Amino acid sequence: MRTEPLVAEVVVDVPARETDKVFDYLVPDELAPVVEAGSRVQVEFGTRKRVGYVVGLKRGSRTTRLKEILDVMDLLPPLTPELVRLGLYMAEEYVCRVITAFTAMVPAVLKGKYRRVVVLRPEASDKPESLLSLSAESLFQVLSERAEVDVEEALKLPGITPGVLRELEAEGRIALEERVGDRSTHKRVVWVKPADVSGLEEAMRALPARAIRQREILRRFSEHPEEVSLPELLRKTGASRQTVKSLVSAGVLLWEERESYRDPSGGKPVERTEPLPLTDEQASALAAIREPLRKGRFHSVLLHGVTGSGKTEVYLQAIEEALRLQRESIVLVPEISLTPQMVKRFKGRFGDQVAVLHSGLSAGERYDEWRKIRRGEVKVAIGARSAVFAPFRRLGLIIIDEEHESSYKQEENPKYHAREIAKWRAREHGAVLVLGSATPSLESYVAARTGGHEWVRLEKRVHGRPLPRIEVVDLREELRTGNRSMFSGVLRREIEGVLRREEQAVLFLNRRGFSTFVMCRECGESLMCPHCDISLTFHRTNRTVRCHYCGHAEPVPAACPGCGSRHIRHFGAGTQRVEEELTRLFPGIRVIRMDVDTTGTKGAHERLLSAFGEGRADVLLGTQMIAKGLDFPGVTLVGVIAADTMLHLPDFRASERTFQLLTQVSGRAGRHERPGKVVIQTYSPEHYSIALAAAHRTEEFYREEGRLRKRHDYPPFCGLFTILLSHPDRVKLLRAGQELARFIGGRLPGDCRMLGPVPAPVPRINDRYRLQLIIRHPSKAETADPVKSILRKAEGLLNDPELRIQLDRDGVLP
Ligand code: ADP
Ligand code: ZN
Ligand code: ZN
Repeated sequence: MRTEPLVAEVVVDVPARETDKVFDYLVPDELAPVVEAGSRVQVEFGTRKRVGYVVGLKRGSRTTRLKEILDVMDLLPPLTPELVRLGLYMAEEYVCRVITAFTAMVPAVLKGKYRRVVVLRPEASDKPESLLSLSAESLFQVLSERAEVDVEEALKLPGITPGVLRELEAEGRIALEERVGDRSTHKRVVWVKPADVSGLEEAMRALPARAIRQREILRRFSEHPEEVSLPELLRKTGASRQTVKSLVSAGVLLWEERESYRDPSGGKPVERTEPLPLTDEQASALAAIREPLRKGRFHSVLLHGVTGSGKTEVYLQAIEEALRLQRESIVLVPEISLTPQMVKRFKGRFGDQVAVLHSGLSAGERYDEWRKIRRGEVKVAIGARSAVFAPFRRLGLIIIDEEHESSYKQEENPKYHAREIAKWRAREHGAVLVLGSATPSLESYVAARTGGHEWVRLEKRVHGRPLPRIEVVDLREELRTGNRSMFSGVLRREIEGVLRREEQAVLFLNRRGFSTFVMCRECGESLMCPHCDISLTFHRTNRTVRCHYCGHAEPVPAACPGCGSRHIRHFGAGTQRVEEELTRLFPGIRVIRMDVDTTGTKGAHERLLSAFGEGRADVLLGTQMIAKGLDFPGVTLVGVIAADTMLHLPDFRASERTFQLLTQVSGRAGRHERPGKVVIQTYSPEHYSIALAAAHRTEEFYREEGRLRKRHDYPPFCGLFTILLSHPDRVKLLRAGQELARFIGGRLPGDCRMLGPVPAPVPRINDRYRLQLIIRHPSKAETADPVKSILRKAEGLLNDPELRIQLDRDGVLP
């Protein structure tokens, strides 16, 4: 009986919804050994070559006249079989395309433009010819003239096929490399060492008299016999590569080429640290993680610990346990707190076993770190949101620090939440999920209360340092007493005190909803973006106004576009205004300002922070980006310029965010020997999120917030789908919205409710009008399934190429 041919099921990367299916392709015999679930392959789709991912292999197909897979693109498949399953799950869960889910999991290098090239291995010329190398003559001819040849180009040479290239690589004659931009992603370094140290003297005597350079090299090795990189050897001895090569050919030296990863820390060694003896609270938290870890079964823990309670030390020791058990760990931290300080704590404990993934790395650097994980060369990955996809195979532990952070939710498709992905993966691996925070999300809090997570509390700060005193200042009172400045009497006195005692202060200004806008004093109009229904923000540095939604920028007009009046002023308090006011009130004060304007360049963030850490400023003034993770011994005062600016955003999480932010900001004060003080200025001191944060009454806040969310039917007490439609034509949009509402409304199960279509909170962005539909379903996960299938069908309904549909789960869209 004839065996059926091997067939790969491939998801092809084509930007159209109709192609979100699995297509069958034949696997040619020569590729059969290297095609796996998770392989990235090249296939012909229609008449064009496309990239796809193999999701499964089988014998035979129901489709006739199959095309063949043209090539397998990577030596090691970028996705593991587990990640393939995760991608399929995500497509289902977030109603997105499978390929979209896959591309979210792999480094950008694999998505964007990059070239694959063939290079000659340096030792290749020492190898005897083989049948294979003779048949690839044409390729070696080209490579003798050029350093590298594009794979595409190589394949056009006579006798060169993907299979031949792979075999040449296996024989060690060539290397296939990837080029991102113009940087090498695989940096290879040749290492040189003596073949036999005791034979060096004799080899030197045997050299002809004129072989000065060769003798120099051997002399060096007789003094320093250890292995050295070729570039360093050449630098030290002034010899040429050819000279070294002749010694290698003579059998005196050995050389070997190895891959060297680019080191993001610039090669600076990190000081090793030892585990600290734990406090009682920390010890029982560690035990709660360690027990299920040892048993190798899924378990989730909410580590609810006040700021400064030593959560990170618990993480470190839990990872240590995972390492002992030969299991791997992922640590997620918000991008903003992925500072060198944080990285140092993990590298200091686990050294080379740690890979770091963050957006400050170049695409190539990121790829290097990712490949260490994929190859099993590291056991710990630390990174922001997307590190949740780290391609480990034996995960034991996933830690999400500051689990309440909104940055764990991806705002583009696939709109996943890292917490949900982490939970899925932890289940799959029988791993332990640790959610750490001083201010958990209401979701996690409610889950912990109802047995969904084990709830572990750290109520004391390490060394028993008290939480800082918090004073709430009513800005309405200040106005009544005639103080029109941004600084209340209390805050002014406290800053004076800090300056007198030569301590440091952190001043916090919430960016969202409190930027400076430009208004006409005559007609009251504010300058609006011509493309969006939102006011423009004033930027002092270059005297422009900008739109934060679409990027539109223009110089500040001299006169009001509405009435022509010249009385046009900027209002509100951006960080620049606060800085000016500070220097006016406290002449000579040294301020470091951190906001979008000052942290735009690579590394600026770290530079500013380390300058502050070294005491080169009295005040660190900034937006959200300074709220968390920072730990400066000199800081004794934290000031919040206006606490309630976030309360009025159209988001059901506004109170929760305000509470979390105030608690986090306050945690920055008095973490060390000197006691800390916090001043919160606000127009609504009686609001529960502000009052309870100021009183450190966490429990009460969660109870009140839970009660209100339940009453108004918001997550986690219901599930939410927000569908956002946008179109450049208002009438067409309205029609599409009504049609969609009718379609969905007629099919929705009885326990679901639909609201809309209504205008989105920002009714127009970038000249596109925006409508939304909101669907609520009972909070149990499976009640979402019918909604998901209706939404999938609904998308096919509206085939207007200008119409865009976005979908979000359990969140709001602007
Ligand atoms: P959190 O993450 O809960 O805000 P950290 O882990 O940053 O707290 O800990 C606060 C400080 O306490 C850090 O400087 C840390 O080194 C120190 N620390 C943590 N645990 C211990 C311990 N068991 N003994 C001594 N110092 C500790
Ligand atoms: Zn005007
Ligand atoms: Zn705009």
